[in-house]
Amino acid sequence: MENVTSNIFTETKVRGCNPSYVTTSDGVVIIDTPQLPTRAVQMRKDAEEHGKIRYVINTEHHVDHIFGNYYFKGAGEVVHHQGVYDNFMVVAPELDPFAYAKEALPTDDPEGEAIFPDRDEYYTDPNKGSIVFDGNLTLRVGGHTFELIHTPGHTPGQVAVYVPEERALFTGDTIFSECQTWLMTSNVEQWLAALDVIEALDDVDHVIPGHGPVTTQRYIATQRSMLLEWKTSVAVAVAKGWSREETMERVQFKDRYPVDIGQEYMMDYINSHNAASLYDKLTANV
Ligand SMILES: [Zn+2]
Repeated sequence: MENVTSNIFTETKVRGCNPSYVTTSDGVVIIDTPQLPTRAVQMRKDAEEHGKIRYVINTEHHVDHIFGNYYFKGAGEVVHHQGVYDNFMVVAPELDPFAYAKEALPTDDPEGEAIFPDRDEYYTDPNKGSIVFDGNLTLRVGGHTFELIHTPGHTPGQVAVYVPEERALFTGDTIFSECQTWLMTSNVEQWLAALDVIEALDDVDHVIPGHGPVTTQRYIATQRSMLLEWKTSVAVAVAKGWSREETMERVQFKDRYPVDIGQEYMMDYINSHNAASLYDKLTANV
């Protein structure tokens, strides 16, 4: 894992989100859990070498940020927003999160097969939040402060975690750093407002995104432009009278960034579903 500061560890180079932990004088705080089983078990072990795990925070409900919670049972309190709790591993028509976690195993974590639960066993206790909140929440752990800031947009229960003592901000998927943005379950207007919120924070040197390399607040402008480009391009498609299928085919940002590590095969899915979801929203009242 990469040391962002002496107390912050993050993993940006493995399939899944960027799972991270922060060491304090009174234990460890996990921010998002690894999707791949063996990685989750390993990160728990590594983190516990720095002290007892006090909290496991999830920044959103998408499978790549929460599936690994299963392997952190008994390791501190799980903390997330009500919006994460309500959507936790819920099977939706467009994506079955459990099947998605499983389909990563053969290519990305063959050894994980042995510790992958069957569906019923998993859903009996996936290790959902024991501290579930609305709005914002502050945790004080040892000499550190964890400000969980509700920043909906990418998902309804999205939070950013600001740790002022480290001058660090964990944005979750409010920032996709130098990789494709997933916006099919998103509210773009809320997301743009969330970017304003995190841009207004002072004293941030390190931005740990949900995906892609560690960056700075400078990258917020790039993320904002990506959202605006997507929305504008689909709005132009609607204005031209393109059909949903035509829009899915023709509005593409595939050449802009690669897909985050391990999900390269999702490029067409991301682009066509991003376009379709915006098309549906922009034509909802027609
Ligand atoms: Zn993600």
